[in-house]
Amino acid sequence: MTSSAADPGTAPRRLSDTLYSDMLLPPETIEIRNEARAFADRVLRPIAHELNCTPERADAFRFDVFKAIADAGLYEIPYGKDVGGRGLTYPTLGTLVVTEELAYYSPGIASAMYDAQAILVGGTLNSAGGTLRREFLPRIVRGEFVASFATSEPEASTDLSPAAIRTVATRAQGGWTLNGVKRWITNSPAAEFVVLLCRTGDQLSMMLANMRDPGVKVSAPDLKMGNHPQLTADITFTNVFVPDEHVVGAVGGGLRVALSSLMLGRMGIGAVGVGMGQRAMDVATDYIQHRKVYGRPIASFQHWQFRFAELATELETARSLYLKGAYVQDRGGDASILASMAKVKGSETAVDIARQAIQACGAYGFARHISGSNEKWPLEAIYRDAKIGEIYEGANEIQKWIVARQIFGRTITG
Ligand SMILES: Cc1cc2nc3c(=O)[nH]c(=O)nc-3n(C[C@H](O)[C@H](O)[C@H](O)COP(=O)(O)OP(=O)(O)OC[C@H]3O[C@@H](n4cnc5c(N)ncnc54)[C@H](O)[C@@H]3O)c2cc1C
Repeated sequence: MTSSAADPGTAPRRLSDTLYSDMLLPPETIEIRNEARAFADRVLRPIAHELNCTPERADAFRFDVFKAIADAGLYEIPYGKDVGGRGLTYPTLGTLVVTEELAYYSPGIASAMYDAQAILVGGTLNSAGGTLRREFLPRIVRGEFVASFATSEPEASTDLSPAAIRTVATRAQGGWTLNGVKRWITNSPAAEFVVLLCRTGDQLSMMLANMRDPGVKVSAPDLKMGNHPQLTADITFTNVFVPDEHVVGAVGGGLRVALSSLMLGRMGIGAVGVGMGQRAMDVATDYIQHRKVYGRPIASFQHWQFRFAELATELETARSLYLKGAYVQDRGGDASILASMAKVKGSETAVDIARQAIQACGAYGFARHISGSNEKWPLEAIYRDAKIGEIYEGANEIQKWIVARQIFGRTITG
């Protein structure tokens, strides 16, 4: 049994084109979605299986893909014209539709090369303003260096309070001396710079450290369940000097900077979930229209018709949430609650769709490669890649806590 779903060189029809209406989106955003989709079809689709199924290695960072994203001008989308960006009216909407389109073929690439690089690192430098923004953002736009965003540590990630954070910066002449360990840091095996959260006295600060400085050591990449092209590793800082000019924003204002970038990153994780969920949906619904049992297509059984109708509804809800959050952000509103909702809905929907898509496709869904017919199947990778969305950039329980605080107030929720 073969299907277009099994061949990474062809693609099943996109259900989103017929089920989902872009009518509420600004024309600018629709154009960017088309541009990003054309890029993903051309660059990611032919190598998606290799990207998503190759285990992590120190030399596995895909500089070719990183360079292609930069050369296509996709790193221009989030930022203003003064730093080489496009100066869009709706930069967050543009950024998130790019994230969804990249995730359609590779959630790991979308998370590492767009959510981490453009939203977390670029977003932090953008809001920092001053010299750091002027000096480093044009280089991010041109794809001159890979960067990391580091808040997590071996003993702290959900809890980013000064009491929990162990990475410490102490005063030195003209700057700070940094000591500590950051864990799970995306892109760190390839990164030239890292924006990191550290303790300065009894407060937290964000600083930009040079990964090539003596005293910075990066471990071998972690071996993970999924998102293989998203390389993560420990970074150890031993007496690393950070000049005063590399403090992001104000000394002691670090947590606020980190949390505002993470708020945008959460919408990004929602968009990643929508992208991979759409791909799983497209692959499975294409396959079950052709695969027959008892002489009739699997799709002719009402069980699967209802199941996929429900999942399509969930997917549309998840997409609408991240787009609405982005729109509110671009209009200057407070998008934090929508960002938490979008993150939870996008990540949970991706996990649900991946599980059901595999069930509907049976063994073909469970397989990565069928040796006898040399078929490559993508659902196994999507199933592995989906899970982390529920955990990182603030576990979903924390997002629900944020929403609950809005409902009940902090006196009750804590
Ligand atoms: C692939 C990958 C990439 C990553 N990239 C980065 C990166 O680039 N930079 C970075 O700084 N970090 C990164 N991380 C770390 C990631 O953000 C953390 O794993 C995440 O924040 C959760 O923290 P933790 O794993 O320490 O879990 P913990 O904080 O130990 O929490 C474990 C679980 O406890 C539960 N929990 C926690 N608090 C509550 C609560 N109040 N109520 C109910 N349940 C709760 C949640 O279910 C949570 O999943 C990455 C991780 C992975 C796996």
